[in-house]
Parts: sequence; C-alpha cells; structure tokens
Amino acid sequence: MSAVDLKLSVVIPCFNEEEVIGHTYQRISAVFNAGWIRDYELIFINDGSRDKTLFHLQEMSLRDAKVKILSFSRNFGHQAAVAAGLKNCSGDIAIIIDADLQDPPELFPEMVQVYIKEQCNVVYGVRKSRQGETWFKKWTAKAFYRFLNYISEVNLYVDTGDFRLVDRKVIDCFNGLKEKNKYIRGLISWMGFQQVPFMYDRQAREYGETKYPLRKMLRFASIAMFYFSKKPLKLALFLGFVSILIGLVLGISAVIAYYSPNSQTTPGWASLIISVIFFGGVQLTTLGVLGEYIGNIFDEVKDRPEYIIDHKINF
Ligand code: UDP
Ligand code: MG
Repeated sequence: MSAVDLKLSVVIPCFNEEEVIGHTYQRISAVFNAGWIRDYELIFINDGSRDKTLFHLQEMSLRDAKVKILSFSRNFGHQAAVAAGLKNCSGDIAIIIDADLQDPPELFPEMVQVYIKEQCNVVYGVRKSRQGETWFKKWTAKAFYRFLNYISEVNLYVDTGDFRLVDRKVIDCFNGLKEKNKYIRGLISWMGFQQVPFMYDRQAREYGETKYPLRKMLRFASIAMFYFSKKPLKLALFLGFVSILIGLVLGISAVIAYYSPNSQTTPGWASLIISVIFFGGVQLTTLGVLGEYIGNIFDEVKDRPEYIIDHKINF
C-alpha cells in the first residue's frame, strides 16, 4: 500500500497526565512507524498541568522533532486546549484524541481510509461501548445528550466525544469562529459539510484518573446547553404564563368562595403561602435562566482570549 499523500496533525490536550503521557507518545508514534501517511505532527497542549507532564513532553520534544508543544500559562480547560491545537496545526487533516488512550490511536489509518473513501470532511467517533466508566457517568451522559438533542437547534449526535478526524476546510472554518466558550463537538456538527460516523469501542483509562471532576462536567454541560439552545428562555416565558393562569384561577376561586353561602374563607393562609412560594420560585428560576445567558454574554463581550500560550516548542 502506498502512503497516503496527506499530512496528519494529531491534537492531544493534556492536563496532569504524567502517568500516561510517555505511553501515549509511544503508542501514537508506533502507529506512524509503518509509514502509511506522508507526514505527521503530534501537537501536545499542556493545559496548565501542575505535575511533571510538561517536563516529560519537553524531553520527548528534544528527541523527536515531530513532537510539538503548546504550553498554556494556566489551566484553561479541555476545549480551549483542543481549540489551540487546531489553530496551530499545519496538517491537511487533524485528529483530536485524549491523552489518556481511551480512544485507540491504532484506529487512525482506518479513519483516514474512511475519510478518503467517503470523500467527507469529518469522521467522528461513535462509542459502541464505554469501558471503565461509572454508571453515574454513563447514565448522566446518556440522559444529558438526549435532553441536549431535544432542546438544541443543532443536531448533536449521541455517544460521540471529541475523538474525530477533521479536514482543512473544517479546521479553517472552526478557527474563524469567534466564540470564546467552545463546545467543540456541537460546533463541528453545526458547521455541516459531510460528516461520517465511525464506530469504535472506548477503552477504560489505564493510568491516572479522570481530569473531569463534577464541577468541570457541569460547566461543560452548561456551555453546551446555553450556547446551543434558546429554549430555556422560552421555557421561562412559558412558566410565567402558567403562573399567571394559576394566579387567575386562585383569584377567581377566592371570590367565588367568599360569596358562596356558609363559607369559611377567613383562614386563607394556605392559598396565600402556596402562591407566594410558587411565584417566588417561578421568578427566581426565570432570573436564573436570564442570569446564565447574561453571564455568557458578559464572557463573550469582554473579549478576553480563550487561552494564553506561555511558550511553544518545535513549531
Ligand atoms: N483535559 C485538559 N484540561 C482539563 C481537563 C482535561 O486538557 O482541564 C484533557 C485530559 O488530559 C484528557 C482529555 O482532556 O486528555 C479528557 O479528559 P479525561 O480523560 O480526564 O476526561 P474523561 O475521559 O474522564 O471524560
Ligand atoms: Mg478520559
């Protein structure tokens, strides 16, 4: 088989991955040993790691010029790291992969074959199975993606992560997007072009532990939801209407009760307290929804950079 005439950039976000990073480098490099593709580069983004990740990466970059490093000034998050990788890559195509080897790099040649055969722009990984993930994560992920798909204006595929191949057209288009808080899988799906699924089995994380604590997961989910849907705002309006209706019904029934013979309307306490609590709740929820959108607008308007690169190596 002759080598595919393309340059492939591998984008690898890393945050506190000292236990696995050496294995990651070896397994990914081994995939390219067979020389099935013209050229490649490995872009590691050090997302403000507080362990020896950067040190290990620097050592690799001394031995291997294919290893390129973007080192952030602090932790800016997984999505910002991937965005930085895509901005700085020079390949005709790029593959985004986690540093923890949950997505097997051995699949790269197959993904490139699919890309060529289908003449598409995106080959996105779909998880046939997910090993080594807690039932809590699997269940919340499933429920959340269903919900997101329901409320979102964009069709977001269930059971996909960021493990995917994108071509230059998509990379350039992505790099032109102005929003700071990026929900990458959603944005790529939103772009359109030709997108083809690629089924694979997701492995368990062998070394180290997840770098997505609940706090980061919630932030991620919140960006996905509020950046990809205006339905929560509509829901707030709907709740407002419903509460007005309930208020009217309560009011009318109070008048009727007052004029009906031998009524005992004096207590009135229960209906009063219920309506106060109910309307208070509706108002707070509505304010909260507005607050989320305003907070996001605030973030975007400030126009701060999405990440700050401390230094680059081998670029
Ligand atoms: N990651 C990152 N910055 C962060 C959190 C995670 O760059 O703030 C990287 C991490 O090193 C890994 C990828 O994002 O390569 C996915 O994280 P992880 O595997 O911990 O997430 P999970 O698979 O548990 O959802
Ligand atoms: Mg992982």
